[in-house]
Amino acid sequence: MLIENMRNELDKEELLNQAMTFMKEYIDNEEHANVYPDKEALKQLENFDEDLPNQSMNPSKVLELLQKYGSKTTVHHTGGRYYGFVMGSNLPVSQAARLMGDTWDQNAGLHATSPIADKLEEVCERWLVKLLGLPKGTVASFVSGSSMANFYAMLTARNELLYRQGYDVVTKGLYNAKPIRVVLGREAHSSVIKALALAGFGKENFEYVPVDNQGRMLVSEVPELDSNTLLILQAGHVNTGAFDEFLPLCAKAKKVGAWVHIDGAFGLWAAASKEYRYLIEGMEMADSWTTDAHKTLNVPYDSGITFCKDRASLVRTMQASGSYLQFSEHRDGMLYGVEMSRRARGIELWAALKYLGKEGVAELIDTLCENAKYLAGRLQVLGLHIENDVVYNQVITTLDSDVETDRLLLAIQNSGELWCGGAVHQGKKVIRFSVCSWKITKEEIDRSVACIGKLLDTVYIQ
Ligand SMILES: *Cc1c(COP(=O)(O)O)cnc(C)c1O
Repeated sequence: MLIENMRNELDKEELLNQAMTFMKEYIDNEEHANVYPDKEALKQLENFDEDLPNQSMNPSKVLELLQKYGSKTTVHHTGGRYYGFVMGSNLPVSQAARLMGDTWDQNAGLHATSPIADKLEEVCERWLVKLLGLPKGTVASFVSGSSMANFYAMLTARNELLYRQGYDVVTKGLYNAKPIRVVLGREAHSSVIKALALAGFGKENFEYVPVDNQGRMLVSEVPELDSNTLLILQAGHVNTGAFDEFLPLCAKAKKVGAWVHIDGAFGLWAAASKEYRYLIEGMEMADSWTTDAHKTLNVPYDSGITFCKDRASLVRTMQASGSYLQFSEHRDGMLYGVEMSRRARGIELWAALKYLGKEGVAELIDTLCENAKYLAGRLQVLGLHIENDVVYNQVITTLDSDVETDRLLLAIQNSGELWCGGAVHQGKKVIRFSVCSWKITKEEIDRSVACIGKLLDTVYIQ
């Protein structure tokens, strides 16, 4: 009976039309909606707390429930006044391409499972390697996000450093492997630490390098490196947006054959801008890189990328076999990652790149950075202290004391007008602003700053 109903094409068309109407409503309402759902809206989530029903529900009613309770409890990070974490919005063309791709429901595991998914990943790989100025022949693996991209890189670096010393982890396992040295900045991103731990390195073995007040590795403090070392650098510190000094650091590592990985979740994109490329000079000397298209490039979620200079080392680490697998003369995405079945992540990425072109990507990055500087200026006028050198898209601010900073942060988070996250930066509570959405304009910044101005009164009155 149910399956019979689903086979009814009319039913399907009606459902899609209904979903489209709901989506339009959501988009039209974005300007007026709370950036973060208020307590009353969040109470609606209780409507989902039920046991799995025994019986089927009319599909149109299912969508209605999603619209009624779900769409009111979203976080509007796609709009123009969300500054939390480092989260991009989505470009309309990418969002629409995602909807088309989801309808195609392609499996990007092999060329045989989806020629179009495979082709678009091949094209995106070629375009991105050129756009970011990575070495010719660099391979891209399309993963969920930067956490996963970092994990892929750690696994590959580990296996390859040992492989070069005559030890094959894939066949022998780690039981008798020589320990690899891991050198990283004191303020490396938490996902790097997690990826290293997952790859079996053990946190207590890390060699941390002290950092300056922007979180940059102190070059003079880097220990002697060797061909048994993994050096992890950062393009875009998660609080300050600062970049490590790649030229001297990569040169030092290269001389002795250490593996260099760069976590550039949002910072790697600086390479596509003439104005900001200076930040990332020398990064092309590394062996692997992480980035997110769902951050700076404003592609919808699930768009992380691992780049690896040496195709063979990534394939050696990730290759699976099975008599039913049908490899081809094409790219075959599963050669480059852990996953077999996988969403066709290249579709919306390709759409974004094709739409923007090189100039558009550069304009997007320049605009985010310019708006971050504008925001910092406006906040300073209000009397907030700017705690970082605003070199990229991140701004961290404080009031005179941690208590006041906390109060303002809470007031901002409860305002519904804008949303920021908090952090502790080098011992001080800070309010973090990330300008990572194409929807953030100077007008939206003015509106946000006006709101903060009003909230400041309540902070001091308490
Ligand atoms: C966001 C971020 C990550 C983690 O990326 P996800 O896509 O959220 O997994 C890693 N490193 C840095 C520097 C980041 O900003």
